[in-house]
Amino acid sequence: MRMQRSWFIGLALLTIGGTPLMAQSMVQERVDLDIVAKIRAEGLEHSQVEQIVRTMTEVFGPRLTNSPANRNANAWAAKTLGEWGLRNAQVEPWDQPFGRGWERSRVAVRVLDPVPSLVIADVQAWSGSTNGTVSCPVVVVEVEDTTDLAQYKGKLKGACVFQGAPASAAPELDAPPGRSTLDFLLRPPEARQGGVDQSRIAALRARFARRRVMLRAVNALLQQEGPVATIQPSRWSYNILLTGSHPDGNTARDSVYNPTPAIVIGKEQYGQIYRNVKAGIPTRLEVNVQTRFIDGNRLGENVMAEIPGTDKADEVVMLGAHYDSWHSGTGATDNAAGSAVMMEAIRILKTLNLPMRRTVRIGLWSGEEQGLIGSRAWVRMHAKELPNISAYVNVDNGTGKLRGIWDQMNERAIPIFEQILFPFRDQGVIAVRHGNTGGTDHLSFDAVGVPGFNFIQDPIEYGTRTHHSNIDTFDHLLIDDLKQAATVVAWTVYHLANRDDMMPRKVRPTP
Ligand SMILES: [Zn+2]
Repeated sequence: MRMQRSWFIGLALLTIGGTPLMAQSMVQERVDLDIVAKIRAEGLEHSQVEQIVRTMTEVFGPRLTNSPANRNANAWAAKTLGEWGLRNAQVEPWDQPFGRGWERSRVAVRVLDPVPSLVIADVQAWSGSTNGTVSCPVVVVEVEDTTDLAQYKGKLKGACVFQGAPASAAPELDAPPGRSTLDFLLRPPEARQGGVDQSRIAALRARFARRRVMLRAVNALLQQEGPVATIQPSRWSYNILLTGSHPDGNTARDSVYNPTPAIVIGKEQYGQIYRNVKAGIPTRLEVNVQTRFIDGNRLGENVMAEIPGTDKADEVVMLGAHYDSWHSGTGATDNAAGSAVMMEAIRILKTLNLPMRRTVRIGLWSGEEQGLIGSRAWVRMHAKELPNISAYVNVDNGTGKLRGIWDQMNERAIPIFEQILFPFRDQGVIAVRHGNTGGTDHLSFDAVGVPGFNFIQDPIEYGTRTHHSNIDTFDHLLIDDLKQAATVVAWTVYHLANRDDMMPRKVRPTP
């Protein structure tokens, strides 16, 4: 690795990021600005991220783990990475089964009485089918605790069961944030973390435990009674449908059990029907749900590929994202965006043919939405290699451009990332923050002692519109933000692959 112009960024810059300087020995990173310029030119001016993400979302569609679309998208990604010249490009099955695949071919809901109307609806994943088109009276079931259940015995067979009251759908008076503010990005870590209130956590745990008991009792009653379908309001307004797993989804994946269709409808329409039923107005729906379970191959899959290193080829820097999604949109911001960013980042590195000392490996995981299953399987299957993995970087917070990275409570990573990311200040990358971020695949690496990091992104519409919703589609992607993200990731991975030492391991494990 020859550097014509090197840039030593020292102590002076390290107070800029708003991160406290730790009492530690200072590292100096050789930041190669010629390489930065090459990566920026390829990533910002010759990007292929738009074609990649469009193929993922609009050619293959939603990629629910083990669905036919998930497998087709996996095969395409492995083939594409191989065609780019990456080594060992493959679909790698997990060592343990995930369960049956599932897809739906029809969800149609209409109000018949009191006033005919169409209903915007979808089903939870691993729902069963109705017996063709059926009409059903609406029965509202509202339970505070298990003693409330008795009154519904014998009343739910053949009904469409509305589950509880809808939350308010009042207008949103303030616009959601969109871009991160400097105030947020540069906030000192103490302000974000606060003290952990143990009594609040205990109360929340107790509430969840009570809820689980209740849900089990409700589901047992529903199974006995045999309603046509259960119907829930979406948690978001504006007829956006938020979907996830059927309450019996795990059971349905493991067996031949065919659960009662669990339908989600727009919050506003749910409210209208609910209020009519509560007012004593007889209300009937017509429902047709057709789904299909796919037996046979029950193993989940990840997609892997790599660029071999030079003199440190037995050491590895990994980049990855989860490629699976929920089913009601096309999984665009969650997480075709992160997957396309990672594919594009490794394409940039391969296209520029830059010498890299360590092996660079991409992982596109499935099963993340059901509990990081794919990345956990990978670290379990490759336990012997873990000591040689320098770091794993992840993108999974929507379409927003990268604004920095969390140190994941690994203080020794802070000065390294500060210096690596400094040449991208003009692209808005400004924060190396001390703290944990959760909920995605870097945790699988962190849990086994491999430094795992997740980038900080602008929120855009992620937490308010697209995350797990039916409008998580290509139209809601910001392509220029994805170009920026892929460029930053490519540079970060390049630098980590070439620095003299591996990324320092954590001194203290994640609490
Ligand atoms: Zn995600």
